[in-house]
Amino acid sequence: MRQPLLNELVSEEDRLIQQAVRAFVDSEIMPVRQQLDDDKDHILIDKISEKLKVMGFQRGVVPETYGGLPQRSVVGTSVLMEEIARGDVGLAVSLGCTWWCTRPAVLANNEAVLRKVAAVFCGDELRRGCFAMTEPEAGCDVENPALHGKRISTRAILDGDEWVLNGSKRFPSNAGISAYYCVVCTTDPSLGDEGIALIYVPHPSEGLSFGKFENKAGMQADRNCDIYLDNVRVPKENRAAGPGEDAKLLHINLTLGRIGSGAMAVGAAQGAFEAVLEYTRNRIVAGKPVREHSICAGMLADMAIGIETARTYYLTAAYMFAHPETYGPLESPGHLSRGSIAKVYGAEVAIMATNKAMELMGSYGYMREFDVEKYWRDCKEIQLWEGGAQLGRFDVVRGYYDFQMSDR
Ligand SMILES: Cc1cc2nc3c(=O)[nH]c(=O)nc-3n(C[C@H](O)[C@H](O)[C@H](O)COP(=O)(O)OP(=O)(O)OC[C@H]3O[C@@H](n4cnc5c(N)ncnc54)[C@H](O)[C@@H]3O)c2cc1C
Repeated sequence: MRQPLLNELVSEEDRLIQQAVRAFVDSEIMPVRQQLDDDKDHILIDKISEKLKVMGFQRGVVPETYGGLPQRSVVGTSVLMEEIARGDVGLAVSLGCTWWCTRPAVLANNEAVLRKVAAVFCGDELRRGCFAMTEPEAGCDVENPALHGKRISTRAILDGDEWVLNGSKRFPSNAGISAYYCVVCTTDPSLGDEGIALIYVPHPSEGLSFGKFENKAGMQADRNCDIYLDNVRVPKENRAAGPGEDAKLLHINLTLGRIGSGAMAVGAAQGAFEAVLEYTRNRIVAGKPVREHSICAGMLADMAIGIETARTYYLTAAYMFAHPETYGPLESPGHLSRGSIAKVYGAEVAIMATNKAMELMGSYGYMREFDVEKYWRDCKEIQLWEGGAQLGRFDVVRGYYDFQMSDR
């Protein structure tokens, strides 16, 4: 039901992992995907997450030298995100954000932090990580490279050998259920990029508390709530890298999040596409199956064109990210631009594809038991998170010229 992946982009090992995950999704997630959004107590969700942990994906966030697994390239992790999102975007983003949390420490090779997170993520318990960036008064503004961290209000002050954190975060994935929080803060907003700090906070920590879980349109597997930091103290070594370097790590993590979002959008679109192909094969209108009517076949073709091109693009962006020696430093605007194309385009394709799928199914498409409405709900949020459709576009053009955002 899909074109083969380009062998030159996706290694044989990554394709084998992809096949294993697809089989897992088919047997463990697809049959219960409609129950997941009602699983408010995370009984079913944790059972599935536990199985993903046993497959090694939790441990995989930690480098092998610290007790984890050989690090997969961004191509490998993105393909994995697509496959899980084909079953449930919430499960994919929850696992993806555990990676997202640890990536800055991995990229900075911060041994102290890596030892601590390894002790948590390489154990037998199901654990999650959180990359806490968004704030109540600043969502996209925290991420916007042109604002240089000046709109971040969560403060980190060095007191002897400890960072003291104060502030709050809103909506981060895995908030309230994580073992480690990578908190995006500033030592002094007037310092701009030099002030941006990525500081690891373990749970529990004195002064770290949470609001109530948000009631969302979907993605129950991803918990989101406010995070409050009230004089939270952590050792100095918990800062990912240092002045200037943490800003680069933030921008690199944004690129990773955008590529991963593109992959998850493709997964959701693929899930809806498979459901509608099957439905329109069996549903008879005007004497023949829906998909045998040329106007409907054309709509299915538009979905396929979008999905295949969005997949090819996120893989291209991931491949280039995995080869900085050829395609430039990871923090360069080119990588963020390509990652943003993958996300902006992937989300629009997924929104288009799920809309068309629903149209082709008539009112059945709106019914929960036919699955398409689930993807329709979830892919909208992929467009909205991590910079939304507008900041994403600014980051796209920044790969082409020095866009100054003069209307700010
Ligand atoms: C399920 C889910 C998971 C999430 N996961 C995480 C996570 O793991 N970590 C985390 O930190 N946050 C997370 N978030 C929060 C999410 O990333 C933010 O909500 C998002 O970045 C947008 O911020 P905002 O909602 O405050 O919108 P705002 O920043 O208020 O943006 C509002 C609108 O303005 C547009 N806009 C932004 N900047 C500009 C500009 N310069 N010029 C013109 N228009 C602009 C935006 O595109 C948007 O349309 C998550 C949210 C959800 C619902």
